[in-house]
Amino acid sequence: MTSDEEAATGKNPAALGFERHDHDRCVAQALAAAEARCAEAGLRLTPVRRKVLELLLQEHRALGAYAILDLLRDAGFGSQPPVAYRALDFLVEHGFVHKIERLNAFVACAHPGAAHAPAFMICRLCQTVAEAQSSPARGALGAAARAAGFQIEKTVVEAEGVCPACAEKAGA
Ligand SMILES: [Zn+2]
Ligand SMILES: [Zn+2]
Ligand SMILES: [Zn+2]
Repeated sequence: MTSDEEAATGKNPAALGFERHDHDRCVAQALAAAEARCAEAGLRLTPVRRKVLELLLQEHRALGAYAILDLLRDAGFGSQPPVAYRALDFLVEHGFVHKIERLNAFVACAHPGAAHAPAFMICRLCQTVAEAQSSPARGALGAAARAAGFQIEKTVVEAEGVCPACAEKAGA
């Protein structure tokens, strides 16, 4: 690997998904990281769980359960909805995948392993999803919660808009 490649793919994964990057490497690294974490935590990354994660990693896009089911069937994993749902439950529970409530769809986590409050930027034109970190304890919401004596445990941040690639196309 050249140092150029390292510079292009390392550091600052803040909005991974919108920026150009070495995607093959991005998928391989994420799968390797998931395998390592499962081995460490004694979790079973069964072939179907691994495949679902791989399918979600392939796109930086949210996929609905039925789209995942279709892809699983194409990959030779049968077409039993419970199989896909159980694999998704496992991946979501252990933080490898997030559910995008707004789209009722799933996306691979951009920073698995670290405890984080994800904030999603969803392109309404191409459905690309970029994941950034949010800090619910800070900012206006945090201040309002403190004033109300409310302890925030979880926030869901899903912003809808237009990604740089689609904005460029529209502007051209
Ligand atoms: Zn990628
Ligand atoms: Zn995440
Ligand atoms: Zn877009």
